[in-house]
This record gives sequence, structure tokens and C-alpha cells, in this order.
Amino acid sequence: MKNYTLYRVNSHIKTVDFIINIADEELNSAEVFAKYISTPVTFSFDEILLQLEQFRIRYERLKDFAGKTIEYITKGQDVNVVLTNEYTMLSEKENNFFAKYYLEKLWEIYTVGRKNLNKITGFITNAMTNSGEEKAYRNQLNNIAAEMEQLIITDWFYNHIPDTSNRVIQENIGYVVLRGNGVNEMYRVTELSLLPFLYEYSFCISSIGMQVYECSYCHKHYLSVGNNVCCGDEKCLSQKKKDIRKGKKDEFSNIKKGYCGYVRGLKHKLTEAKKSKYAIDLFTDAQNKAEKYVSNAIEEYRDSGKRPDADFDDVITSAKNAMRKLTNRLYKMSDSATEEIYCKMVEGDVLFEVERLMI
Ligand SMILES: [Zn+2]
Repeated sequence: MKNYTLYRVNSHIKTVDFIINIADEELNSAEVFAKYISTPVTFSFDEILLQLEQFRIRYERLKDFAGKTIEYITKGQDVNVVLTNEYTMLSEKENNFFAKYYLEKLWEIYTVGRKNLNKITGFITNAMTNSGEEKAYRNQLNNIAAEMEQLIITDWFYNHIPDTSNRVIQENIGYVVLRGNGVNEMYRVTELSLLPFLYEYSFCISSIGMQVYECSYCHKHYLSVGNNVCCGDEKCLSQKKKDIRKGKKDEFSNIKKGYCGYVRGLKHKLTEAKKSKYAIDLFTDAQNKAEKYVSNAIEEYRDSGKRPDADFDDVITSAKNAMRKLTNRLYKMSDSATEEIYCKMVEGDVLFEVERLMI
């Protein structure tokens, strides 16, 4: 009997589903398989990032334990008592997904291996240290130790487009599909290694253009497409809002100041040209509307913890362009034409590009 791990990376909703320890015969039953996939263990992309970071702290302890399983697979007849105690102690405390996964796999290979070797060689185990069976179990344990070492490299945490020299990685990986009765589900299947999962997770992150950022408030790492300052947690967002209320300036304050200065300059052009009261009123009305458009965008960005990005630049540019076009129009218009347009505005007509911004 073999146990498999099933996973899928849902790039559209940025989550990962796992089903751990499903036996091969269970994969052949639609009914059993359907039951399993109805309750997967789900992580967000950010949670996987944090799980990997946490694994890093557990690594030395696990490496030490892996070394002992490799040593004891060739020692004694039964499952070693000291090692059993150590496993129990580690397992009870462990809540990190990756650490738990490798710990259980090490223990499974060691205990199954120890029992099988005992059956084959009986009390003369020590004399058979280089038997093929023993080598096979030792290799499996060594592979896990090597894989754990892979996981602590920073590429898995922070750099999803690594600068290291190119290499091709090939993994034999299957998938299992449940299809029919209105259901269409697909999972990838791995027997031991989680590397195929990590390659896919990392690929998704880089293909969406996500990067790792540090929250300015809680200092937690998180993934985002924009160059954000805040992780988006309720606590951090409300701290950010509090700072703004307290008058602490952020990047948006300066951008808005620059924008308002630009618009005041346009108005000055009209007053200098001694345009009519109607022209100035038309300008002021549009100025208020465009400023509201800009303020709404700022509010939205602040609420979501985002920093100014290309989309935000577009908001400022379109508001500036609309105000500039209006200024040029009013500048060229006669006083009587301005008065006519003013009346239309009072009636609620959409006259200017500025007003279209608001729609
Ligand atoms: Zn935070």
C-alpha cells in the first residue's frame, strides 16, 4: 500500500489545496475520492510563504532527527525507543505544515523500513547493513533530508525569479481527475516529494507578477502585485488610517498637493485673462468634481493598503488632462457662449470631460 499527497494550486484565487495521505486504492474509488476532496487543507499563497519561513526555524531540529533515522535504519532489530520518544515529542508540538509533513514521512519510512528489514534479516540485521533493501530505505531518508535542505534556500521564500544559473528540472508527476455527475476536479499526485508543488507555487507567483513585501506595520512578509506598504490585515489597515487621520502624511498627500497646485495654475490663467464670472464658476464646479474623483481614488488606495501604481498615475493624468482641456475651451470661448454653457450646467447636462470621469 502506498500513500500519496494530492495538491492543486489555484492561481485565480491565490490558494493551494492539499490532501495528505490518501492510499492508492482510495484514489480508485470515486465515492471515497469525492469525500476527500470535499475537505482539503487550504492555504492562501501568503500562508504558504509564512509556513515556509516558519519551516526555516524548524529546520535544524528536523535535520538532526533525519540524521538519526538514517543512522538507526541500520541499527538494532526493532524500532528504536529513544527515537520513538523523540518523534512523539516533536510530532506533538509541530504545527508547521512542511515540518509536520517531513517528520511524518521520515517516521513512516523509518518504521516501515525497520519492520520490513527485521522480517528479511531477523537478528542478523547488523551483518546486512549493505543489503539492497536497506540501501533503498536509506536513500529515501536521504532524499527527504536533501529536500528539506532545498526548502531553506531563500529562493523559496523571497525570490521567485532566482538569479542563479539556468537549469532544467524534471519531475515525474501524475494527476487524478474526478469527472462526472456535474463534477470536474483535478489534483496533482506526489508520492513523497513536495518539490513539484513548490515549483508550481513559485511559477504561479512569478507568472502573476507577485513579489514579497514587508508590511510597514506588523513587519510580516506578504505577496502582492503592487508596491504596497501594508499587508492588508485589519489591524494594520486601521493603524494606517489612524496615522493619516493624525495628519501623518503619506505618498498620496504629496501627489494630491501637486495635483491641486497644477489645477490652481490653470484657474490663474483664466482669471488673468479676465474671463467672465460664468467661466470661473464653470471652472470651479469642474475643479471640485475632478478633485472629488482624485480623492475617491486616494481613499480607495488607502483603504486597501496599496501604494501609488500605474493605475493611480492614470487617475491623476486623466483628471489633469480633463481640467487642461476645459481651461483651453473656456479660454477661447466668448462671454456669451460661456453663459449659455453655464445655464446648461445648472440644468444638469454632462458637458465636460471632467464630468465623464465621475460617471
Ligand atoms: Zn501588517
